[in-house]
Amino acid sequence: MKNNLLNFLGRDSGFGEKNNSAYIEIENKLIIIDCGFTVFEQVKEKFDFNKYNNIEIIITHLHNDHAGSLSQVILYLWFIYNKKTTVYSKCSRIKEYLDITGTPSDAYEIKDKADNLEFIKTEHVEHLDAYGFRLNINNKNIVYTGDTNTLEPFLPYLNNVDEFYVDVSKFGGAHIKIDNVLEMLKKIKESGTNVYLMHMDDKKYIEEITKGEFFM
Ligand SMILES: [Zn+2]
Ligand SMILES: [Zn+2]
Repeated sequence: MKNNLLNFLGRDSGFGEKNNSAYIEIENKLIIIDCGFTVFEQVKEKFDFNKYNNIEIIITHLHNDHAGSLSQVILYLWFIYNKKTTVYSKCSRIKEYLDITGTPSDAYEIKDKADNLEFIKTEHVEHLDAYGFRLNINNKNIVYTGDTNTLEPFLPYLNNVDEFYVDVSKFGGAHIKIDNVLEMLKKIKESGTNVYLMHMDDKKYIEEITKGEFFM
């Protein structure tokens, strides 16, 4: 995965070794995308948080492999580094989630959009709202699906997109089944968008069926 905007902490599905999560460092700002239960341990080791003036965490939905260590990271930044986290999320129950996990409201603020960030509502599982997003950063446009069982909501956003990050799986269900979108992803690639696969439940199968067409 070279020259892409996002660096991944993990690209495994929910029962895999490392939760699907990515980050972008831009000067004094650190943006983390999703904060599952394996992420706290990784970011604690990886980053010197003294370096950053702004730490932003984008949360796509509240499954544990995407938000399971969110409270822990906010607490850590607040008590160890005296830094307030900005949480970007449109999840309807994010405030409640942070409240019941004992996250002091002084330690974070929640925003549901920014000039360069727009959430895109998608379908993932029943009873849990889930979002992907469009982000413009460093003169690049990216679209990130988060966990999704459909490409549909993202298609209108894919004009002039440099990088498209897409949840794919072998088995489908709550996630996009790779077999069903292979041709569509090829078209997206042919239109000039780099396609990156993520949240993979079976990398070997996905590698075989995609024959190295996409970044993974
Ligand atoms: Zn997930
Ligand atoms: Zn999920």
